[in-house]
Amino acid sequence: MSAGTDSSRRRNLSAVLRLVHTRRGLSRAELTRLTRLNRSTIGGLVAELAQLGLVVEAEPAIDGVGRPSPRIEPNPDVLAVTVNPDVDAVTVGLVGLGGVVRARVRRATRRVPTPERAATVADGVIRKLLARSPRARVIGLGVGVPGLVREADGTVVLAPHLGWRDQPVADVFTAGTSIQARVANDARLAAVAEATFGAAAGHRSVVYLNGSASGIGGGVLIEGRPLRGRSGFAGELGHTTVNPDGARCHCGRRGCLETEVTRDRLLAALGLADAAPEDLEGRLLADDSPARPEITRQLDWLAQAMIDFSNAFDPELIILGGFLGSLQAADPARLDDAIARQAFAALGTPPEIRRATLGPDLPVIGPAELIFESLIADPK
Ligand SMILES: [Zn+2]
Repeated sequence: MSAGTDSSRRRNLSAVLRLVHTRRGLSRAELTRLTRLNRSTIGGLVAELAQLGLVVEAEPAIDGVGRPSPRIEPNPDVLAVTVNPDVDAVTVGLVGLGGVVRARVRRATRRVPTPERAATVADGVIRKLLARSPRARVIGLGVGVPGLVREADGTVVLAPHLGWRDQPVADVFTAGTSIQARVANDARLAAVAEATFGAAAGHRSVVYLNGSASGIGGGVLIEGRPLRGRSGFAGELGHTTVNPDGARCHCGRRGCLETEVTRDRLLAALGLADAAPEDLEGRLLADDSPARPEITRQLDWLAQAMIDFSNAFDPELIILGGFLGSLQAADPARLDDAIARQAFAALGTPPEIRRATLGPDLPVIGPAELIFESLIADPK
C-alpha cells in the first residue's frame, strides 16, 4: 500500500470516511477524484474501513464518464444514539452513519425533567429501540441541550428553561444508559447538521438562527469550523441587544433579540394560545393576517441582529430555522433589503438567507454529528 506514513494514512482514512458520511455514499471513482489519491491507495483505505465495519461496498454505479464504479456506502448499522431533553419531553433518536435517522421517539414528561430523570426516560426508550436492531453497533450517545454547555467535561453550566445549573450531564447519561455520552448546545449542533446535510451543505461560513418556544438559539460556522469560544459558550446570538428600551430578558438585560422576536408575541397577535408550526406559518402568511404589524416589527428587529452578525462574521449564508423561517416567509424581501442596505459585508456579496431544511430530524441529526465527528477524526 502506498499510503505513506502512519499519520498520513490515518489522515487519509479519516478523509475517506468523512466523504462517505457527508455524501451518504459515493462511487470509488468520485472518492479518487475528490481526495486526489491514486486508485490503489483508495482501494486500500476502503478495504481497511470495510474491515473496521464502517463502510460497505455496494453494487457498482455508473460513474461520471459512464464506467461502472463500486459504490462505497456508510454501514447503516453503525449508530449514534441521541437525546434531546426539553421542558415537557425527552426525545431519543437512533441515527446511522451518513446522518440517516433510523428512529425518533418523543416521550412526554409530566414535569420538567432533571438530568437523572431524563437519562432514565432515555434509557427505557433506547433499550426498546435497540432490542429491535440486533445488528446495531452503537458508538456513542450525543445529548443536545438548550443552554450553556462546557463540552470538555460535558457539564451543563446553565440551561434556564430546564432549570439545570452546573450539572455533570455527560456523566449522568453515561451512568444512566451505559453508553459513553457527550453533550453540547443544541443550536450549535443544529448549525453543524444543516451545514453537513441541510441548507448549508457545501458552505463554510454560516450563521444559523433557530426560533423555538423557548427562545432563539444560534450557531456559527467559520471557514468550516464551528465557533466554540474558550468554554464552548460562543453563539448565544439570541442575547444580542436589539432594543435597549425593550422588555426585560431572563438573562437580566433588556431588549435581547429573543425577547423582541418571539413566538408568543406572534401567537398573541393572532389571538392564539398555541399552534403547531405549520398552522402558525399558515396564519402568518395569510394576506389578511391580523399579525401583519407584529410580523413587520419582529422582522425589523431580526434584521438589526442579522446585520450585526453579517458585520461580525461575514457569512455566505444565514440559515433561519423554526418560527424564524415562517417570519421570513411572511415577507421575504424585508430582511434581504435591510441587509443589502446596511451590512458592510454586503459591500462584497450580501449573505444569502435560507430556511433550515432538515425539519423535525434536525434536533436528532445534530447530536449524532457530535458522536460521528470523533469517529471520523480517528476511525481506528
Ligand atoms: Zn437576554
